[in-house]
Amino acid sequence: MEGNFQISETTNLLRKIKEFTRSIVEDLAEGKSPEISINRFRNYCNDPEADCFCSSDEPKGREILTLRKRSQTYRIDMLLRVLLIVQQLLQENRHGSKRDIYYMHPSAFKAQSVVDRAIADICILFQCSRYNLNVVSTLNPFTLIFLLKNYDRLLVMGWLKFREAGRKFDCLSSLNTAFPIPVLVEEVEDIVSLAEYILVVEKETVFQRLANDMFCKTNRCIVVTGRGYPDVSTRRFLRLLMEKLQLPVHCLVDCDPYGFEILATYRFGSMQMAYDIESLRAPEMKWLGAFPSDSDIYGVPQQCLLPLTEEGKTIKHLYLSLIHCFSETDQFSLADKKRTEAMLLRCYLKREMPQWRLELETMLKRGVKFEIEALSVHSLSFLSEVYIPSKIRSEGSFH
Ligand SMILES: [Zn+2]
Repeated sequence: MEGNFQISETTNLLRKIKEFTRSIVEDLAEGKSPEISINRFRNYCNDPEADCFCSSDEPKGREILTLRKRSQTYRIDMLLRVLLIVQQLLQENRHGSKRDIYYMHPSAFKAQSVVDRAIADICILFQCSRYNLNVVSTLNPFTLIFLLKNYDRLLVMGWLKFREAGRKFDCLSSLNTAFPIPVLVEEVEDIVSLAEYILVVEKETVFQRLANDMFCKTNRCIVVTGRGYPDVSTRRFLRLLMEKLQLPVHCLVDCDPYGFEILATYRFGSMQMAYDIESLRAPEMKWLGAFPSDSDIYGVPQQCLLPLTEEGKTIKHLYLSLIHCFSETDQFSLADKKRTEAMLLRCYLKREMPQWRLELETMLKRGVKFEIEALSVHSLSFLSEVYIPSKIRSEGSFH
């Protein structure tokens, strides 16, 4: 059934692409400029008091592209070039990466960002997700070994098994082994689980700690990490698990602005992919910790509490955060305070998660941050034996 569904989706999309290009050709033949209407999306605004609908899936305005404006001529040209490639991929039932597309016309595209914007425009125009276009993020599925070594950002372990593109992933057979997760999330099927909840952890080091402590042996759960800022595949996979298994999802991040950003990205989606929020966010996600107040409750020593920085010190983190490759939080070097103040303005926090906002305010007031591992200062297995199980058991200890 799923296979047939995919085929009819593709046929439908190809038909829409044909209609779209035909109308452009007709306009040009009549000497008119085509008008391409592209909806604009955002997932928050910076007015906590706004009576807005940012966190809905509805568009927040639109842009009309025409050949009358020179700047838009180039954008339309690039959109059509990418659309032609997408059409070929769909017709031939092949997949390509955004990078592959860029290298098909590097002198015309000039930068990867031009291709990325064209793909986003196409998704908005045809009201579909990127995976419907047979476009994957960075890799070519035919280079599977390379892919497994370099690109599987997502790790999973616990009470779960499934298949992906014919491959079996039987986490149940080895509960405390990390399985790197496929990038072709749309080909994941036959998901079976005996878990009671899903735990998303920010960092691979924490994930490995839980694996070493055999956390899943005593706790019926699925543990997932996106190794820092979660990419699209990680968020799609989590969303898929949530939809299929209907389990509660908890998130454990560092108590710092970057950890909070990761949490918010899982829960509300990113601004960059705001047009596809519905298939990427985890709307029921709860924040398990670490909260600013946890440092007092669990006796985190003073030397593990780091001051929130006032100003940026290096450009390393800026660069890393731009390419979303931050996986380990060492000292957070961007201006933590400014970043936190900016996050406090996001309209969705006040409206939907006032408790999260209060915690963030407390972080700012106290002016300190700490890593999840700091909680384990008194005992190596503290996270797996005490902190996580006790929080899961008592409803009031997370938001
Ligand atoms: Zn808003």
